[in-house]
Amino acid sequence: MTFADLLRVAPGSTPDLAAIDTRATPGFEGDKDSSRKRLKELRGELADFQERLWAESKQSLLVVLQALDAGGKDGLIRKVVTAFNPQGTRVTGFGVPTEEELRHDYLWRVHAATPGKGRIGVFNRSHYEDVLVVRVNDLAPEPVWSERYDQINAFEAHLAANDTRVLKFYLHISRDEQRERFQKRLEDPEKHWKWSSGDLDSREQWSDFQAAYTDALARCSTDAAPWFVIPADRKWYRDLAVAEILSEAAAEMDPQWPVAEEDLSKVVITA
Ligand code: AMP
Ligand code: MG
Repeated sequence: MTFADLLRVAPGSTPDLAAIDTRATPGFEGDKDSSRKRLKELRGELADFQERLWAESKQSLLVVLQALDAGGKDGLIRKVVTAFNPQGTRVTGFGVPTEEELRHDYLWRVHAATPGKGRIGVFNRSHYEDVLVVRVNDLAPEPVWSERYDQINAFEAHLAANDTRVLKFYLHISRDEQRERFQKRLEDPEKHWKWSSGDLDSREQWSDFQAAYTDALARCSTDAAPWFVIPADRKWYRDLAVAEILSEAAAEMDPQWPVAEEDLSKVVITA
């Protein structure tokens, strides 16, 4: 079984988030040290893939990251996404929409940030906030956000039909793990910048967010754009699992080195 098979939300199924062990390490029997060795290999593979993707310039890869506060999106970007050459990679963070963004439909800013041919795009939060925080905090009425699941599926199918591979990762941490990570932030002055007062509000809304995530995962995991639920209490497993799934997708995308237009064996470099 591949990591993708183990962790994918089967299209049409509803994941039971509370029943998923966030400390589990599906598909991996080793410990932290051996995971870091494996990650090093995978980073090499991903770097090679990215160079071929760029050279071929026909396909794109879009990686969507979603998690609750302290879920580990930033750490994952540091440990895994940095395997890619920054020249061909763009990480886009989506925060509270600006006034201009609010004057457009919610996919406008998202579509503008999708990767072009040969490029890799990474979304730190995404259009899913428009059915997560928007739903939980009543930022739009239910008739508005409830239409969005189908709209999102259509949007992602459109990207996929236009040669963009879409992979979506939900980094799943437990309530206890979130408390520990928040506690560490409060105790370490070098982590205070990560703290926001809204973090405690969203912790109060834990079960509302779990419900909103469950619906997003159930309704928007499609063949064209699957969701993966990554047990993320153990950071090393989180990094490993995402890197394994990226590397499996890279093998399927299999970008090819372009063939030179002229016969290079005849090229002579002058003195
Ligand atoms: P951070 O990722 O910690 O920089 O925080 C970004 C904040 O922007 C989070 O609190 C998100 O919930 C919020 N956010 C992202 N997208 C939206 C959206 N479409 N509507 C409202 N808030 C959003
Ligand atoms: Mg935050």
